[in-house]
Amino acid sequence: SPHPLLDRQGPVVMVGDVRIEAGARRRPIWMCGPCSVESEGHAREVAGAVAPLGVQFLRGGAFKPRTSPYAFQGAGAEALTWLRRAADAHGLKVVTEAMSEVDVPAVAEHADLIQVGSRNMHNYALLKSIGRTGKPALLKRGMAATLEEWVLAAEYLLSSGASGVVLAERGIRSFDPVTRNLLDLGAVALLSHVHKLPVIVDPSHGVGRRDLILPMARASIGAGAAGVMIEVHEDPARALSDGPQALRLAELAAIVRELGAAPSAA
Ligand code: PEP
Ligand code: MN
Repeated sequence: SPHPLLDRQGPVVMVGDVRIEAGARRRPIWMCGPCSVESEGHAREVAGAVAPLGVQFLRGGAFKPRTSPYAFQGAGAEALTWLRRAADAHGLKVVTEAMSEVDVPAVAEHADLIQVGSRNMHNYALLKSIGRTGKPALLKRGMAATLEEWVLAAEYLLSSGASGVVLAERGIRSFDPVTRNLLDLGAVALLSHVHKLPVIVDPSHGVGRRDLILPMARASIGAGAAGVMIEVHEDPARALSDGPQALRLAELAAIVRELGAAPSAA
């Protein structure tokens, strides 16, 4: 089926002055931060650590789509202000998830790029409500979504008013739980090189373990990704969510240095 608005959008999505471009291998975009924003100090500390590396986006969840209702659900709306202030103090953009239609106005007010989580890729009412904000969106692939379903979800965002859509590959369900998900780099190459669309890869949720983030980040850029989204935590053992896949700050620094940050970076 047709995806006219994604075709018209093409390979570049601007988020303020940050250019997210398909296949821009020499200048990857970095979206880094904790899985969950745990406190204002936490947001400030992570922002201060990642900004000097040349990272452009502070990521972090305020509203968390946890598998168990008994797990930490995110600090909520308050965390949006923590993210915004931490990012502004260090010249970073904010990307964070809107989990529910009722939270869209607050997320739109605080975020530069509105994240749609994997579990919500098929939530068309939410997609329309995010689109109506007129902001750019980061659309994570549903964990069992075909490429066609994924690009049509992007059409929902664009047809309701989103200024741009960046696709985020975060792994799909497979038969083997040895890695958390199966990171679909074939889809990244197809979307980046054939369809010429901007794709961000999230190896953190893709493989779910910190020892595989570096090789998969390399492979993602090699496959044509415009950038990578990586979870970091100053003390992963104490993280309130996704500790096993969180990189330590020094480990993230080594990866960003190897794969390259924007020339404007410190
Ligand atoms: C996240 O990025 O915080 C997240 C929950 O990811 P996903 O929706 O891909 O599971
Ligand atoms: Mn996470």
